[in-house]
Amino acid sequence: MEDLRVEYGSTAALDGVDLAVDEGEFFTLVGPSGCGKTTTLRCLAGFEEPTTGSIRVGGESMAGVPPEARGVGVVFQSYALFPHMSVGENVAYGLRFTEPPAGTTESERVAELLDLVDLPGFADRDPDTLSGGQQQRVALARALAPEPRLLLLDEPMSALDARLRERLRVQVRAIQRELDITTVYVTHDQEEALAVSDRVAVIDDGRIEQVGPPRELYDSPRTRFVAEFLGNNNVLIGEIERSDPPSLRVEGTDDGTDTIPLPFGTAAATPVGDTANAGADTDGGASHSAGERLVVCVRPGRVRVRRGAPRAGRGGDDGNAALSATVESTEFLGDATRLHCDWGGVDLTARTDGRRSFAVDEAVTLGVDPEDVRVVERE
Ligand code: ADP
Repeated sequence: MEDLRVEYGSTAALDGVDLAVDEGEFFTLVGPSGCGKTTTLRCLAGFEEPTTGSIRVGGESMAGVPPEARGVGVVFQSYALFPHMSVGENVAYGLRFTEPPAGTTESERVAELLDLVDLPGFADRDPDTLSGGQQQRVALARALAPEPRLLLLDEPMSALDARLRERLRVQVRAIQRELDITTVYVTHDQEEALAVSDRVAVIDDGRIEQVGPPRELYDSPRTRFVAEFLGNNNVLIGEIERSDPPSLRVEGTDDGTDTIPLPFGTAAATPVGDTANAGADTDGGASHSAGERLVVCVRPGRVRVRRGAPRAGRGGDDGNAALSATVESTEFLGDATRLHCDWGGVDLTARTDGRRSFAVDEAVTLGVDPEDVRVVERE
């Protein structure tokens, strides 16, 4: 997809989208409702002509190519099975524009596909006797029937309850791997996106914010939107303070509150701004100077929690911060406990072992290591 723009009247649903999906890849578009995910998918499927920009599949231009000639299979959010047809007839409907692969009859192909989606022997059933997850697997079998070169999935799990969704996403991923089929998956669920994808594109307001493997997006968000959208995060804005090592004076903290250590300029002789010696630089070698405003983030799971106020003399051995905070509220999550803390007037969230419990108003010390602080962007 190159410089894709889709306009509805005066509003741009897509505002210059460039994306390249690799062959065999499970590629996910994720973003809040209304950001342009479905529009992107509809352009790929051929249901929508972009206002400007181009799409190529396997090097071939899709301009003016109708949906049925694109070699794409689509599964939508709603089950969209024909209620008056049996499960087998629904799957066979996927073959209406193509012959079954050489050497197979239609009914053999249908049986093969029902095996693939783990519904063997379901051909004669009525769709309305199936669970939501089973119906979506029939829809998947129908989309895969003509052996498309590209599989497009538009929130196929969103109508299912949480447990079914988790099971179905594992099944879909396994089928995708088995067939090695290039797949573009749309979801608003960031957890789902991280769980199943080879690569993810985060979209906001018709624009791509960042593209990369799940771990990279999670560990090194490059925009504030990505830092806040993918998983829980502490996003802090502040000004670099010249100290040794440099640290961040966080906006909104009371006078006398500690600062957040920064992951660069750690050598005593290194002035702020000279990152040549910085070992744990997570900011792509960018140089920074005192007074500059930065957006940084620290994952709650990276914030260590100790009971009681910090001991005399601040900080740890390696420039780690020991921040004085008070517990404001706690959430028991089973395997973890989430603590919402007040740190000098600013909220900081920590995620700690579920076996530990804390009381509201309890004094705690929050430990933050410089290498866990990610510089997201300059303000
Ligand atoms: P998503 O799939 O991320 O929820 P969509 O791609 O459906 O978002 O929509 C992107 C934007 O385009 C939204 O602001 C939506 O209201 C608008 N939009 C989508 N389809 C139409 C349409 N047919 N007419 C006018 N506006 C539309």
